[in-house]
Amino acid sequence: MLELQFTRRFSMGHRLIAGAAERCSLPHGHNEFVTVTLQPVRPGPLDGSSNMLVPFEQAKARWHRFVDERLDHALQLSSTDPLLAWFRANEPERAERIVVTPGDPTTELMACLLMAKLGAILQADGSLLRCAGMRIEETPTNTVTFTGDPMEMLPVSQSGGPGWWLRPDMSIA
Ligand SMILES: [Zn+2]
Repeated sequence: MLELQFTRRFSMGHRLIAGAAERCSLPHGHNEFVTVTLQPVRPGPLDGSSNMLVPFEQAKARWHRFVDERLDHALQLSSTDPLLAWFRANEPERAERIVVTPGDPTTELMACLLMAKLGAILQADGSLLRCAGMRIEETPTNTVTFTGDPMEMLPVSQSGGPGWWLRPDMSIA
């Protein structure tokens, strides 16, 4: 199977308060690499002319824009984190730049959320490609990879409506 892989780098901040080690409970950051693996939904032979898998510039551009404009230098917080309520009450413009997650924003959760987000983007782009793998390198020695259906891993959205990870737009909350 021919596959495409793209890697993008971003800086992020988060804190983990529900059960991780105490040292993770103060806001801190990582420089991360996110690598996605894409497969054609309907594999076929190359056409002998352009010899490209499928046109993917549009989906790639939208994905990279999401990483660059929404993930890079964003703060990731659980929807139940009191810091989120503080930002919304005191600095609402900055609260718009917070990635809100169902529970602590661990790398494991982010891999599933981002895989679902990219899946929504690819679907909106005509379902020519599907995301077959998501890899987040949190540190040079700590990487999370996910393959499979992220919907089987994700908690049900607590706000009632579909989560931002199901929308093919730039939303992060
Ligand atoms: Zn961390």
